Amino acid sequence: MRCLVTSSRNYDQDFLLAANNGRHELVFTETTLIANTAFMAQGFPAVCPFVDDRIDQDTLHTLAKLGTKLLVLRSTGYNHVHLPTAKQLGMTVMRVREYSPYAVAEFALTLMLSLNRHLHKAYNRIREGNLLLDGLLGFDMHGKTVGIVGTGKIGMALARILRGMGCHVLGYDLYPNPDAQELGMVYLPLEELLRQSQIVSLHLPLLPETQHLLNAERLALLPKGAMVINTGRGGLIDTVALIGALKSQHLGAVGLDVYEEEAELYFRDHCDDIICDDTFERLLTFPNVIVTGHQAFFTREALQTIAATTIQNLTDYCEGRSNDNVVFA
Ligand code: NAD
Repeated sequence: MRCLVTSSRNYDQDFLLAANNGRHELVFTETTLIANTAFMAQGFPAVCPFVDDRIDQDTLHTLAKLGTKLLVLRSTGYNHVHLPTAKQLGMTVMRVREYSPYAVAEFALTLMLSLNRHLHKAYNRIREGNLLLDGLLGFDMHGKTVGIVGTGKIGMALARILRGMGCHVLGYDLYPNPDAQELGMVYLPLEELLRQSQIVSLHLPLLPETQHLLNAERLALLPKGAMVINTGRGGLIDTVALIGALKSQHLGAVGLDVYEEEAELYFRDHCDDIICDDTFERLLTFPNVIVTGHQAFFTREALQTIAATTIQNLTDYCEGRSNDNVVFA
């Protein structure tokens, strides 16, 4: 099947070509798929987008006119696709339901430990010959209470790691995970989880009902000095409220792999640009904030699985088979 792979980088190309093994005709472009660039899909019955592509109503209408029938997303999340329109236009949407929950869980832990032990400061300081320890004081993770919001595949992988480190783990989810009890995870209503957690880590999908789940009111429930980690989706947090909680010193540390307005910024080199997003720039001024560019998924194992699943999705579609990755057909 002829498939246009949008927003693709060299690593996407390497992993997809290796998994494809000549089965489908893959054409790669670095261009982001948005309404104004959708014309590039002319002649492609399948398009393979990434999370920074904006597959809104306009984009979908153009794709449908050009004959695109299938969207094979290289992601688990599908909040970047206007699903009702895709459905109305008769498109099939497939995703990568699961690749490596470990990649994201381990990255959430990386943010926690780096913030706790001020690794981002130590790295720079030592290069300037400053070997003072002042300002680098951390805390033992052992015995601390971590609230995991969203106890699906990634949330549970993180819970297992944290239990191994001697943390108390609290959980919040619409559907409690049957493995949680054995792990000693205690489910609480969200507000109570926030009151009791020294660290809170978000692992929910972005949906209308989870948009700004952490708002000013809920951030205020966290104990003073708490740490917030978000490797889910940027929109789970009201960033302006987060900045307020950092300015008032209510929050002790924040680690963000995702940002609500990231579609305009992430996965590109802005070294020579003036970044006009003042909210994003304000986040970068705090010494107790680490921002990364949506890299939690970025491990060799995850890319191999994303590529293999994407190729399998294309093959299953061509051969008229359904699978677990069909969002709808
Ligand atoms: P999952 O589907 O296994 O788990 C999501 C959990 O959220 C489920 O247990 C579900 O019951 C719960 N949930 C859904 N809606 C809810 C609501 N309204 N209130 C409470 N709980 C709700 O997903 P996962 O694989 O663990 O991934 C979680 C999220 O992580 C994804 O949706 C994606 O947005 C994000 N993610 C980020 C990266 C990255 O690189 N930063 C990579 C992969 C996934």
